[in-house]
Amino acid sequence: MSAVGAIGLEAPARIETGPGALDKLGEIARGLGSHALLVTGRSNRHARAADLLEAAGLRWTRFAVDGEPTVATARAGTEAARAAGCDLVIGFGGGSALDAAKAIAALVANGGDPLDYLEVVGRGQALTRPSLPFIAVPTTAGTGSEVTKNAVLASPEHGVKASLRSPLMMARAAIVDPDLLAGLPPAVIASSGVDALSQVIEPFLSIRANAATDPLAREGIRRSAAALPRAHAAARAGKPIDPEDRQALAQTSLLGGLCLANAGLGAVHGFAAPLGGMFAAPHGAVCAALLPAVLRVNAHAVAARAPDGVAQARLRELAPMLTGRDDASIGAGIDWVSALCRDLEVPGLAHYGMNAARIPELVAKARVASSMKGNPLPLTDDELAEIAATSL
Ligand SMILES: [Zn+2]
Repeated sequence: MSAVGAIGLEAPARIETGPGALDKLGEIARGLGSHALLVTGRSNRHARAADLLEAAGLRWTRFAVDGEPTVATARAGTEAARAAGCDLVIGFGGGSALDAAKAIAALVANGGDPLDYLEVVGRGQALTRPSLPFIAVPTTAGTGSEVTKNAVLASPEHGVKASLRSPLMMARAAIVDPDLLAGLPPAVIASSGVDALSQVIEPFLSIRANAATDPLAREGIRRSAAALPRAHAAARAGKPIDPEDRQALAQTSLLGGLCLANAGLGAVHGFAAPLGGMFAAPHGAVCAALLPAVLRVNAHAVAARAPDGVAQARLRELAPMLTGRDDASIGAGIDWVSALCRDLEVPGLAHYGMNAARIPELVAKARVASSMKGNPLPLTDDELAEIAATSL
């Protein structure tokens, strides 16, 4: 993190937030194209979006994504957009639908195959042409994909997830309407909510943290810590989530996307990338399982090797923001996160098939993951193995 307070922020040109923001979809879409590829999840929650497009005089073609997107998903969506003559792509759904839409918008404009551009397992060529205009409408509050410039695709043949990444992939508009979170099941609120929390905590502790992202991260940490336990309790009791808590969750996700795109992440996401490739485990759930152990091991490492550094000061600042208590110690902050994950019934990594025998393989992959570079300090293989073992 910069001691001189460097500022840097990339974001979509237009971000609409708040209850009813979805109503602006037709007007925004009309300014960007005439025939939209509407990329959605499996459910049929997109009817309202389709109505808004039709009322604004646009045609639309649906492309449904089943689970987290793969290289094959991106190929099929690109084909569908070309066949229908789409000049605009709208992602309407969770992170899977948004990432698929973002990849499709880039591939239609640039031609070629996803593996030409994919990091790590592909050829990693740079995208050279701006994506088709892309509008992101999240219906969960986790990934922040609506404001990031990468799309994560799984490559089952390589057993990893990797990104298409370019500033040219940024959405032209993000529409973040907390009313779309109504009716989410408690397990989705838990995994996506702790993922969003990790996506404001990791950029705050990142070595790339900067003066533009810090205030956004602090805001997200406070809002999420207050709202997430209440929202989960309401959903578990079958009650509607308080509108202000819905708003806080939606905004934490958005703030997390802005922070991670501009300040990087850390060990939680360094592990999440290879785990997502090794097992059929949803991204948010994996991040939620890892967050307590990553904080604990990082805090130990920082206390041992950099006790007077910026990371130590950041960890100290984190605890009161999480707990709401000014005198909370670093340990109390981490205990609060552990208790939150217990209360939210976040399953461990074993739930997705991870076991002790595969820890060396996981550590070898996590060590070189791009997100690991943001971690407040480099962790040893023993420390990485401890995180994996504690998160089982
Ligand atoms: Zn995440």
